Order: sequence, then C-alpha cells, then structure tokens
Amino acid sequence: MFGLTSKMRLISAIAIVGLMPFAGNVAIASDASQSVSERIELLDWSDPERAAQVLDGVVVSKLEDADIQFLEVYGMVYADVRRDTDLNRVLHTLKLRAQHNDSSASFAEHYLQAYVMFKDGHYALARSELNRANISVIASNAEQYRFSILKGNITYMVGQAEVALPYLEKGLDLAHDMHDIPRSIQATLWLAQIYINTDNLEHASKLLEIASSLATSISDEASLAAAEIAISDIADRRGDHAAERRASLAALEHAQRSGSGKWLAAALSNLGDSYLKVREFSESLKHTKQALALLVKWRGSSREQIARFNEGIAYIGLGNIKLGEKITEDVVIEALTSENLVDAKGYLQEYAEALEKSGYLMMAIQVYHRYNQVSDKYMDIARQRAFVEVSAKFDDERRSRELELLRRDNALNASVVNAQRLRQQLIAAAAIFIACICGALLWAFTRVKKANDLLRFNGERDPLTGLHNRRYFNEQVLNIDGARPINGCVLLADLDHFKRINDTYGHPAGDAVLATLSRRLSAALRDTDKLVRWGGEEFLAVLDSITPEQANMTVERLLHAVRRDPIIWNGEAIRCTISIGYACFPMALASTDISLSSAISLVDKALYEAKRRGRDRACLIGSIRALDENGLAAISTEFDAAAADHRVALVDICAAA
Ligand code: GH3
Ligand code: MG
Ligand code: MG
Repeated sequence: MFGLTSKMRLISAIAIVGLMPFAGNVAIASDASQSVSERIELLDWSDPERAAQVLDGVVVSKLEDADIQFLEVYGMVYADVRRDTDLNRVLHTLKLRAQHNDSSASFAEHYLQAYVMFKDGHYALARSELNRANISVIASNAEQYRFSILKGNITYMVGQAEVALPYLEKGLDLAHDMHDIPRSIQATLWLAQIYINTDNLEHASKLLEIASSLATSISDEASLAAAEIAISDIADRRGDHAAERRASLAALEHAQRSGSGKWLAAALSNLGDSYLKVREFSESLKHTKQALALLVKWRGSSREQIARFNEGIAYIGLGNIKLGEKITEDVVIEALTSENLVDAKGYLQEYAEALEKSGYLMMAIQVYHRYNQVSDKYMDIARQRAFVEVSAKFDDERRSRELELLRRDNALNASVVNAQRLRQQLIAAAAIFIACICGALLWAFTRVKKANDLLRFNGERDPLTGLHNRRYFNEQVLNIDGARPINGCVLLADLDHFKRINDTYGHPAGDAVLATLSRRLSAALRDTDKLVRWGGEEFLAVLDSITPEQANMTVERLLHAVRRDPIIWNGEAIRCTISIGYACFPMALASTDISLSSAISLVDKALYEAKRRGRDRACLIGSIRALDENGLAAISTEFDAAAADHRVALVDICAAA
C-alpha cells in the first residue's frame, strides 16, 4: 500500500502509530470542566507516555464500577504504551460487564480489541472486530468520534480509501459539532494522510494548511510537527528536495517545542531519512541515532525498525560495511520472520541500491537476488490470494450460474410440461371440436338426406296411394329402358265408372276408393312387379320374367281382388271393378322387337277395348303382325282397323263373373 522508499514507510509508521496531536496539555490546562477521561484521551493522542503517567495518578478504587467511557480511554492509553497487563485488566472488566448484558461494555470491548489489533497491524481482524460492535449503543459524540476515526483508518488500511473517507469526514463533522479544535486538527491530519497516499497531493496540501493554521491558533506544537512531516512527504513525492528539507527541519522544531518524546522521535527519523536520500550519511546517522534513543522503548515497532534500517544504510554509505550490513540484515530478517514481505522487499531493494551505489557490487548482486526471491514469494502469495479470491468469486459465480441454469432448466421443464399439457388440451379441444363438427355435419347431413329423401319420395310417389307416380316411371324407367325390347308383361288397369263414385259418395270417398284399390292391386302382384299410378284412376303394372300363363292368372287375380269385396267408406259399401288391357312379350308373330313405350301404347288400346266390351274384364293382345316400328306405330294409331285385318289379335281373357 505504501511506497517502497524508506521515507514513505516512515511516514506510514508515524501515521499508524503516532499521529496524535499534542493538545492534551493545552486542553487540561484551559478547561477545568473537562472530565478526567476526556483530558487523558486528548493527552494520549499527543503523548501516550505522559497520558499513562496521568492515568497512574488517578485513583481508580474499583475498575468494575468505572465509567465505560473512562475504561475505553484507559484501555487505549495502555495499548499505546504497551502496558499489556493493565490493558488486559480493562478488557477483562469490559468482558465481564458485557456478559451481564451491559451493551455499552460490549461495544467498548469490541472497540478496544479493534484498536489494539489496528495498532498491531492486524487490519483485517480489526475490521471484523469493529464490525461486531453494536453502534446503536454509542453514548456520546466523543465515543462516536473515536469509533468513526478508527473505522475510517482501519478501512483505509485494508485498501478501501474511498470507503474510509466518509468515516473520517464524519469524525471531522463531529469535531466541528463539538467545537473541539484538537479533534478537528486530528481528523484533518488523518484525512490529509489518505489524500497523500492516494496521490491527491493538492487536496492534501490544502488540508494540511488548515490543520497547521488551527494548530497554530491553539499553540498545538505536536500537531504542527505532524503537519510538517506530512508536508515533507508531499515535497518528497514531488521531488522537491529543498521543500522537503525545509518541512523536515520545521517538523523537528515543532516537535522539540512540543516536548513529546514520540513526536521528537518521529521528526528526527524523518530528518534522518531526508539526509539519507541525498546521501548525507553523517547527518542522517546523527538524527537517526537521536531518534533511536527515544524509540528504544518501542523496540520492534515499525517506526523503530525503519529508523534502525536507515541507520544501517547510513553506515553502508559511510563505508562501515560490516556494521551497516549487520544492522540492515537484522531488520530484513525481522521483517521476513514476521512474514512482512512488503517491508522486507522494500528493505532489500533499498539495501541493494545502497550497496551498489557504494561500490559493493557482488554484495549488491546477492541482495538483488534475495530481493527477487522475496518478490517472487510475495507474488506467489499475492497470486495465491488473488487465485483464492478469484476462485471464490468464480465458485460463487459458477454456483449462481448453476442455480440459474437449474432454475432455467426447471422453468424450461415446466414450460415443456405446460406446452405438452397445452398441446394435449388443444388436441383434445380440436378432437372435440372436430367431433362436434362431424356430429353437426352428420346431423345436418342426415337431416338434409331425410329432407331430400322426403322430397324425392314426395317427388316420386303419389301422395294418395304411396305408389310411384308417372313422372318417376318416365324418368327412371322409360328414359332408361323405354327403347329396349321388353321381356315380360305390361298391364294397364282403369277403375270403372269412377266418376259415378265421386259423384255418388263425394270426392273424399273417391280418394279412399283409390287408396284401397292401390293396396288391393299391390297385394295381388309380386314384390318385384312395378305398379305405378299412371293417371287419375289408372294404374300401370310391369311384370318382368313372367310367362303368359302366369300373367293371365295375375290379371284374373287383380280383377277378382277389386271386384270381390266392396270398399267401406263412412259406413258406405262401395262396389267397384276395373278393366285391364295387357300384353306379354316377346309377342308371338311379331317379327320386330317391341319396346316398353310401344307396349304401353298398345295395352292402352287393349284397355280401351276392355271398356268397350263391358268393363270388369281384361283384354289381352295375343299377337301382333308388324314388320318394324312403323308397322307397330300404325297398329297403335289405327287399332280398330288393325284388329279388323288381324294385324293385332285380341283375347278377352277374363269376362265378368
Ligand atoms: P270409365 O269406366 O269409362 O273409366 O268411366 P269413368 O267415370 O271411370 O271415367 P272418366 O274418365 O269419365 O272419369 C274419371 C273420373 O275420375 C273423373 C275424375 O274426376 C275422377 N278422378 C280422377 N282422379 C281422381 C282423384 O284423384 N280422386 C277422385 N276422387 N276422383 C278422381
Ligand atoms: Mg280413366
Ligand atoms: Mg275409369
């Protein structure tokens, strides 16, 4: 996160551990109403050692009964001066009270644990610890300020500068709300540090101007020292060596005036680093050694480690390679042992450069080689971490993709099932529809057929008797078979004196007579014989495949059937008879074929003859002499003459009984 130069590491170390403006003495002296813990807290920010001394003087009879805010500050001070036993007492007390459902104690315990972890450089742990603190129980603006500043700094150290800024801004707002100048300065300095490390040097400079101006207004020399160290850092980053030196010297002056050992050590280290950069090794070593004398009680801390490293580099520069190598190697090994690869890498690089510049080329090559190894290891770890992060992300994505696929698959299956169900429903609906249509069509067809059948029936049948009518016979028989030679018997029957029946009994009686007559004629014929109502009271019968003898018997039967019983109508017994003209074909002596049409015409003449001979009888055309159709036609038209000259022979078959 921080740069590779010792200057940048140094500033970071100061920022992490010691950017605590020395305003406490001012505050304690000027504001009698301030609570003891408040004053100690402010003092701790600038000089933790003095804060611890003050704290030791405060009589705390029972830690268990102490104010939570007090315990928080108490713990922070002992964490800053590394008095672990006292710190653990405070943590234990907070834990016990938290176990008794004291939510404020629980918050304070988490806050303090996070504070300690942050100071030890365990930023990720510090973050999760602070996340466990229930912020809804925060009791005062001071506590809110403390929380916001720690939260912002931890967030920044885990690499989330953008997320960190709002917390520090909130700290600054709270300080303004409290009209608290020391806290305002502190928050401004923290903010400036983030802007410097994110290369927003312009904005950082403006903030540092504000902080310096505020610090001047309350003679806060520790804050002025802190501000000047930050200003020297900016100048260093801009490559402005003169400004860097000016600020470093100014920082030392303010630190000296502050009387704070910590800020003096910080300013001396910073100045030593400043001289080291321009290879003024003696000056560098002088200031660094002064810093180390003050930092001895923080042996192993990062700022103490950096100062020692600078001391080793200065020795190398001065040609004391053996001592320089030993000091530098110690620091490198410490960093490697604590797995601090970022710092170890930085140390090795600067170490190699120093050796190279001082002409120790073989040693420089070896150190560069080690630098490469550490870099590789660091890259491996970084890659591993990145891989773990990426694979975790990939796993998440894969899982969510699988879930998505599963979800889509399910949706697809469901839609397929739905589609199938819909298809089946459609097929069923279509089948029902088609069945309905077919049913309707069948019904309609049946109805139409019935209607047609009825129409045809009515068209072909005589309504009174139910027999085929003459039109039917003309269309279905004569038109088709009328011209062909006939083989069978053709017979015409006519009711005798029917006019009288009508006149005597009325027309309806006549109808009834006709209906009965038709039934009697039908009954006397075979099923295969054709019977047609030929005219008003005239009936035509065509008897196929019948011998003349059978035909004669049939005629007799017909005459008898009509004559035998009177027809009863409305209590009236109506007697009736028929006359018949008939002929059987092929005709004897006819040297030409006789068609059905000609035959009908001939039997009509025979019927007329039967009437003429007295009715209730049949007249048979026994033979015909005709050479061709013309001869036949001549017989029909001049029947009597033909009978006279024996072109036609008539037989009175059945006289009235
Ligand atoms: P003939 O013995 O010479 O055949 O004498 P006829 O009276 O039977 O013959 P004619 O031709 O003089 O009269 C036939 C009568 O039949 C005339 C007509 O009013 C009657 N007629 C024809 N069709 C029907 C019918 O459907 N119903 C009734 N009631 N009478 C009919
Ligand atoms: Mg008639
Ligand atoms: Mg008649």
